[in-house]
Amino acid sequence: MYSNTHPVNVLKFCPRCGSAHFPATGSRSFKCEDCSFNYYVNSAAAVAVLLFNENGELLFTRRAIEPHFGKLDLPGGFIDPMETGEQAAVREIQEELGITVHSLRYFGSFPNEYIFSGYSVFTLDLAFLARTESLHRMTAMDDISSFEFHQPLKVDLDELPSISMKNIVKELIQREGTY
Ligand SMILES: [Zn+2]
Repeated sequence: MYSNTHPVNVLKFCPRCGSAHFPATGSRSFKCEDCSFNYYVNSAAAVAVLLFNENGELLFTRRAIEPHFGKLDLPGGFIDPMETGEQAAVREIQEELGITVHSLRYFGSFPNEYIFSGYSVFTLDLAFLARTESLHRMTAMDDISSFEFHQPLKVDLDELPSISMKNIVKELIQREGTY
């Protein structure tokens, strides 16, 4: 009923006391039978940044890491603890592309299952529209190998493996001219 990478099938021991008596008490909760520690599986927050060039083409990155090595992605990443989504968006673009973005506007939230090191990390990807004057000065760094621009309507969704990124592109197409 759950995939091999689902927390219910991966987490075997209490992270507090190390007990093996650590049963799942639901699809997203565990309780240790020895020390009563409760553990909940929640969505991790992440950001995706939507940057368009002067031709109305959207910026995509190529992944330099697993999962989905070599496939398309949108720039962004996990939000650090106690960081705002806006701060994470600015930081991730600086880290991945070496430029500064501004004028962030919330576009929507898109759930995803991100399988990393054999473990399903459930995320909620917050998409932000952003602006920059530095698109011509971008350099691919960090966990991306290169970048490219595509019209949302023309991007090959098979090249974009993440469910949330696919849904962001679909919503951009649906809401074209209104954001
Ligand atoms: Zn315990």
